[in-house]
Amino acid sequence: MLKDYNIEIAKLKTGHNEANFIVDHNFFNLKANSLISEGNINVHLDIIKKEGLLTFAFLFDGTISTQCDVCLDTFEMQINGKETIFFKIVDTPKESDDELVYIDENVLEINVYDYIYDIICTSLPIAKSCEKNSSTPKQCNPQMLKYIANSDDENEEIKITTKTIKDNFNNLKN
Ligand SMILES: [Zn+2]
Repeated sequence: MLKDYNIEIAKLKTGHNEANFIVDHNFFNLKANSLISEGNINVHLDIIKKEGLLTFAFLFDGTISTQCDVCLDTFEMQINGKETIFFKIVDTPKESDDELVYIDENVLEINVYDYIYDIICTSLPIAKSCEKNSSTPKQCNPQMLKYIANSDDENEEIKITTKTIKDNFNNLKN
């Protein structure tokens, strides 16, 4: 549930606090039109509380299931990274940016769901392929490569057919 990602400000102690989240299909299911549907990512959150300022440092590491742009195979892509967001507690909030968020002093909790989702999505490479997978690269599916090479790449209909064949093939396997 979304409220599982609430951080109650009053419950934080001055100094260091931490929280851990597992990001899997239950996480992505909470998002309408999520770019990702399957994954297994550990998210560690270190929170430093000071007078008027909260520092949220997110560290994440794991895999997501995604489709290879080259051979269309589904593969487990390694992702990891970190991101820090500062929350400044003020009486009259100003416009926030990506890294500095102004929050009203009466705000009781910060929901980190969207921050985690955005951090993971922005860490994805523009081009995803089996062969570029950072720690466990593998060869693209040779049968699909052969099939794609024989198709007219410019033809949308063939691309869709390719995908349908692939989906049917996966359904048969399962
Ligand atoms: Zn591939």
